[in-house]
Amino acid sequence: MVSAKERARREEVATLREAAARGDARAQCRIGEMYDRGEGDVRQDETEAARWYRRAAELGDAEAQNLLGDLFGRAVSVEQGDGEASVWWRKAALQGCARAQHSLACSLADSDTEEAVAWWRRAAAQGHAPAQHRLALCLQAGLGTARDEAEAAAWLQRAAEHGVRDAQCALGGALADGSLGLKRDDALAIRWLQRAAKLGSAEAMRRLGVCCERGAGFARSDANAVRWFRKAAKAGSAEAMCALGSACMRGAGVAQDALEAERWYRAAAAEGLPHAQHWLALRWLGDAAGGAPDPTAAASMLAQAAQSGYELALASLAEYAHVREVASFCCTGCGATKRLHACSECETARFCGKECRQRMWPTHKMCCKGWQRGA
Ligand SMILES: [Zn+2]
Ligand SMILES: [Zn+2]
Repeated sequence: MVSAKERARREEVATLREAAARGDARAQCRIGEMYDRGEGDVRQDETEAARWYRRAAELGDAEAQNLLGDLFGRAVSVEQGDGEASVWWRKAALQGCARAQHSLACSLADSDTEEAVAWWRRAAAQGHAPAQHRLALCLQAGLGTARDEAEAAAWLQRAAEHGVRDAQCALGGALADGSLGLKRDDALAIRWLQRAAKLGSAEAMRRLGVCCERGAGFARSDANAVRWFRKAAKAGSAEAMCALGSACMRGAGVAQDALEAERWYRAAAAEGLPHAQHWLALRWLGDAAGGAPDPTAAASMLAQAAQSGYELALASLAEYAHVREVASFCCTGCGATKRLHACSECETARFCGKECRQRMWPTHKMCCKGWQRGA
């Protein structure tokens, strides 16, 4: 037996199919969606979905053009799909479809930032929240448009109000720091950060920890700070792992425990955080109290941090150029580890090229002689 509801649904589908066959673009688009999602007893079938979307899209239906773009954007391999997706998003975008304007902008973000910003601007003006967020980031960084902090803050606010998690976090952060031309407001900052944290933002959790540490908007509490840092670290924030490492070293809000600290810094270093890599390197060079010296492991960490351009790591490389394990592991001028040439005199220190060797020569000179003598 077929229920009355089911009978009504089948009749609706039959009516849609008739309308679609007559050339009704809206009906064609709807049938495409049914195949796209696998609605009711229609089996999910991307080829059928594309066929119906295309018919409607070619008749000028903006929604079908947008959905066809989405289908190409996700279903087909990048090299085949990307160009095709953009073609259809662009058609829909030109007809004013905000979602297509946003998708098109995202696809252009790397190749043509100015055009991307223009589309984000149009989608943002129509109230598309993710576009408002991206536009705010571009205005803040001066990417594809002139820098404008006040306008960035205004869009960030709107995106945050529309529930975009990362916009809520950024807005909370700006209010906590008093940046982006906003007046510092700890209570409001915390409200936004808490909303973002509830949606799973690791960075918002970390920032809430910092607020507890500073006693900004919260009563000062190291223990509460550590609680937030733990949540943030669990959600993947490398900065929070570092903050936990630091708390363990200081015994702030948690028992003082150097080994536990080192574990947190290691976790952050594995995520590629230069600050953590540098901290571990100094510890393993025997600088940080209580660390067992391991200059080879230290050299590897210093090299990694220096390669990300971290200034303190570059300074430490120069400072530790007299350590044989460091000088022979990487170029002490820049931290490079590939295609190195040994110093022709000591045959121990290695450099990436003439420039670094010349620049580092005054530093290297002293131990170069010693190493020549085989000391
Ligand atoms: Zn170099
Ligand atoms: Zn030398």
